[in-house]
Amino acid sequence: MIEVGITIIGAGVVGLAVAREFGFCAEQILVLEKVSAPGKGISSRNSEVVHAGIYYPEGSLKASLCVEGSAMLRAFCAATGVPLKEIGKVIVAASPKEEHALEDLYRKGSANGVRDLRILSGKELKEREPNVRGVCALFSPHTGIIDSHRLVRRLEIQCLEQGAAILYRTTLTALEKTISGFLCTARGPDGEHYSFASRLVINAAGLDADTVASLAGIDVDAAGCRIYPVKGEYFRVSPAKQGLVSGLVYPVPEQNLMGLGVHATKDLSGSLRLGPNAFPSESRSYDVDPSHAQAFLESARRMLPFLEPADLAPDMAGIRPKIQRPGEPAQDFFIRHETEQGLAGMINLIGIESPGLTSCLSLGRYVSDMVREAGLFP
Ligand SMILES: Cc1cc2nc3c(=O)[nH]c(=O)nc-3n(C[C@H](O)[C@H](O)[C@H](O)COP(=O)(O)OP(=O)(O)OC[C@H]3O[C@@H](n4cnc5c(N)ncnc54)[C@H](O)[C@@H]3O)c2cc1C
Repeated sequence: MIEVGITIIGAGVVGLAVAREFGFCAEQILVLEKVSAPGKGISSRNSEVVHAGIYYPEGSLKASLCVEGSAMLRAFCAATGVPLKEIGKVIVAASPKEEHALEDLYRKGSANGVRDLRILSGKELKEREPNVRGVCALFSPHTGIIDSHRLVRRLEIQCLEQGAAILYRTTLTALEKTISGFLCTARGPDGEHYSFASRLVINAAGLDADTVASLAGIDVDAAGCRIYPVKGEYFRVSPAKQGLVSGLVYPVPEQNLMGLGVHATKDLSGSLRLGPNAFPSESRSYDVDPSHAQAFLESARRMLPFLEPADLAPDMAGIRPKIQRPGEPAQDFFIRHETEQGLAGMINLIGIESPGLTSCLSLGRYVSDMVREAGLFP
């Protein structure tokens, strides 16, 4: 039987970044991806924002991996030519009631190690974003935007150059613990199933990461890692109004961080989008419901009063792999070496929602350190 060193499930930014961390090595690194190209899941359906690390509780993986990951991503993009631009972001208090929330965010972000945060007065906000309405704002100069598609391609190329094999249209369908590792069964492009042995298995399967964990026998409810998908839609702003905002404009976030609130993001071409909203959805449909335009407009007009109904057109949608039940408090990334489940050699990454794009390189480093510290890999 064929035997490989590490099998990584999922060729999104996380799986590819993990594979890349193992570099040139004697043992075969294999990435299985169920669709025909990399990064077609969550990795290509998001706001493409390189977050600074403001929102997340101090000491959480989200906070530390975001701060570390954004620095790693900047260095990676500078070295490889993947477009990344620090356009800065304002989090706007739309009424005096929200001012103290900004001060809390300022303290939280600074404690997380976010550099150069500053509270802007109403006048300073007007100077920076003349068309944005607000009483004051938190300014994060190093928040940026990235071309996520180019990032995925570059990560894929680096993995292949280092000798990893990426099998597309190949789905992991069964996983069984053996004495020396795992027996993996996959369905290939021709629909045939085949099995191979792998010493380690790393689960970076995005929206299906809980399903993959349960293939190994993990009770995802007991482990607290069942995924409750939360959809987020975007609307595009008409070209005539794109120039009225220069950076990223966010509201004060919702209490339970279901999302960061409908915000205005620019992409690298200068286009302006609003989104994402947040609602539970079991369907994997990426359609945008045009009837949601009114709610977007009402929410966005608190900060962007120049918007009119005719300015919005449905754009795209993404689905967040949340491990919090609707209405419950936000959860940290779930990253676990499953020794206590009798599955030494299996690492699960589940609930890798935002800031997972920002953190992909630090997530890769974190997992490879975990593997090496456990003595599982040279
Ligand atoms: C609406 C939205 C906005 C976001 N905005 C931001 C942002 O601005 N900044 C930020 O940092 N983060 C953001 N995120 C989060 C970020 O996009 C994700 O954290 C990140 O892309 C997760 O990548 P991934 O590799 O884990 O998942 P994916 O890209 O989904 O990759 C997982 C892969 O696993 C494959 N797979 C699944 N099951 C199997 C199987 N059994 N066998 C083989 N392959 C399998 C899938 O096909 C998929 O390609 C946002 C997310 C959403 C939904």
